[in-house]
Amino acid sequence: MLTQLGDAPVAGVSMASVTLLRLDAGGGLAPGNKKFKLAGNLSAARRGGIKRLVSFGGAWSNHLHALAAVGAEQGFATVGIVRGEDNGAEPATLVDARRWGMQIVRVSRAEYRRRHDADYLADLQKRYAPCLVIPEGGANAEGARGCMAIAELIRTAAPAARHILVPVGTATTLAGLVAGLGSDCEVTGVAALKGATDLEQRAQRLLGTTAGADRARWRILHDYHCGGFARVNSGLREFMLAFEAAHEVALDPVYTGKLLYAIHQRLQSGEFDADLPLLAVHTGGLQGRRGFSWLQD
Ligand SMILES: *Cc1c(COP(=O)(O)O)cnc(C)c1O
Repeated sequence: MLTQLGDAPVAGVSMASVTLLRLDAGGGLAPGNKKFKLAGNLSAARRGGIKRLVSFGGAWSNHLHALAAVGAEQGFATVGIVRGEDNGAEPATLVDARRWGMQIVRVSRAEYRRRHDADYLADLQKRYAPCLVIPEGGANAEGARGCMAIAELIRTAAPAARHILVPVGTATTLAGLVAGLGSDCEVTGVAALKGATDLEQRAQRLLGTTAGADRARWRILHDYHCGGFARVNSGLREFMLAFEAAHEVALDPVYTGKLLYAIHQRLQSGEFDADLPLLAVHTGGLQGRRGFSWLQD
């Protein structure tokens, strides 16, 4: 579950102070943080006797991929509302999801924008009844509670860890970590989105839904989006190829690549002391590599 990075430098910088918590090696059809976010939602569905789960995502969504996987593993029917009309070959993510039994419903971008509207959600609720509609990315209170189990993994597998780093999309995973770790820990999030100035507020709101007074300190770094969500610049590309050659750990360009890139940049600049042990959460997402031609062998 833990990988300590060796001495092999990446572009001249040692990353030997970094240990990875390998959620990507967690087993199952779709390992990573998404199954933690879904666990709480699945329990809620089970309690309510609901057998169908509906959610939203882009064509390369890790969330829909994981939803289809856990649905297949745990006997739920799944429906994926996918942004953008079908235009040609289906991405590998949706091929997997369909194979695992997910009903794929492609909708226009205009319809997709309504995914948070109460009347649209009520429509879906009726169309697929009885069902549980889960927000995009599994970003709700159940999701954050599910991610407290990642904090538990850290307490057990790496009890000495004090500086924990995690990529941030909706800040649900970050909130679960902050709620599940103590005030002797600091959680640093690395935003995968550009200009997402509401992330702190979102994290705050999710934290408000979790119990427990003793929480980790936290902050979100906004300077490592590399051009925006799912965008890649040459710095990130070169870093990822050098990192993978040195350490034989695969990263995804959307989240974990940016997380390790941020750590690398800060070790290089001295903002992170080379002697300070860092625990970086490898949140998975490796299925999405198939969407980036420069990562193929
Ligand atoms: C979704 C995702 C994240 C972001 O998690 P949030 O809880 O939305 O912040 C990070 N890493 C990977 C690989 C993901 O798929």
